[in-house]
Amino acid sequence: MSATTPQKSPQLSIVIPVYNEEDGLQALFDRLFPAMDRLRVELGLSYEIIFVNDGSKDRSAGILAAQYELRPDVTRVVLFQNNFGQHMAIMAGFEYARGEYIITLDADLQNPPEEITLLAKQLVDGHDYVGTIRSNRQDSWFRKIASRAMNHLRQRITRITMTDQGCMLRGYHRRIVNLVRQCNESNTFIPALAYTFAANPTEITVKHEERFAGESKYTLYQLIRLNFDLVTGFSVMPLQIFSILGMLLALGSGTLFAILLVRRFVLGSEVEGVFTLFALTFFLIGVMLFGLGLLGEYIGRIYQQVRERPRYVVQTVLERQ
Ligand code: UDP
Ligand code: MG
Repeated sequence: MSATTPQKSPQLSIVIPVYNEEDGLQALFDRLFPAMDRLRVELGLSYEIIFVNDGSKDRSAGILAAQYELRPDVTRVVLFQNNFGQHMAIMAGFEYARGEYIITLDADLQNPPEEITLLAKQLVDGHDYVGTIRSNRQDSWFRKIASRAMNHLRQRITRITMTDQGCMLRGYHRRIVNLVRQCNESNTFIPALAYTFAANPTEITVKHEERFAGESKYTLYQLIRLNFDLVTGFSVMPLQIFSILGMLLALGSGTLFAILLVRRFVLGSEVEGVFTLFALTFFLIGVMLFGLGLLGEYIGRIYQQVRERPRYVVQTVLERQ
């Protein structure tokens, strides 16, 4: 730890975003705190746990406040005014975290808290980014297939090489977290952004369990949005591919036009094939709309970025001074 850091700062910060998790929080506390106390003894690392309540509409905030009263020495709670999304909640956790090492974890017990020790060891060993691969992932088949497809796409169009981008149990050195905070991006995908700054990354395999209680907080729509964040945030290749596609289509339709023109003079006028024409037109309209939508994705993000509105609003922070 650097000489300027006050002695009371913990060495390890755990950041946990919480959104409507009232049924699972107690089970999380029951496993997380003992695991962290064991880690403190085993690795000799002092720790703090930062819960960020992402505007939950259930009793989560109250449950977190009660837990804070029980363990104020190692617990801090950041309460958002509204729902700003998992990645913004983690960003706020980064802002308040004081540790040299920072580990993020989901509140739903899909990442076993006991695995934190494995990540902490890698960080202590000098890795500045610890990625994770979920062994035997316990999610719906649809999520698994979609996630695999996105992993492949990301691997192709960005320079980010991660085996499993979706797992949120990850460890970062403070240097990386500071860089991520500097970025000030209004839509982002933290594991990928952090990876771009890593000098000595590593990956480990961790266990994965079924959600302890409640349901996934991501609807299909939100998952699609998140994946657009991942793609547009790290690559302009979709736009480039689109311009190449446009060029090929223009060439194709130009050739078709030339052929039809010659045919018109050789064989006379024709009306057959009108449905083929419809099919072609609809296809081209579809391609155009997709292209417009894609452009819109980038432009919308530019718009959000230039407005520079606060990315999240913190209502209160429960912490011992
Ligand atoms: N989460 C959040 N804000 C949201 C959605 C989710 O803070 O708007 C939290 C949620 O409480 C959990 C984590 O992010 O701790 C991951 O969410 P979830 O388990 O629903 O995602 P999945 O595992 O299905 O990807
Ligand atoms: Mg989950």
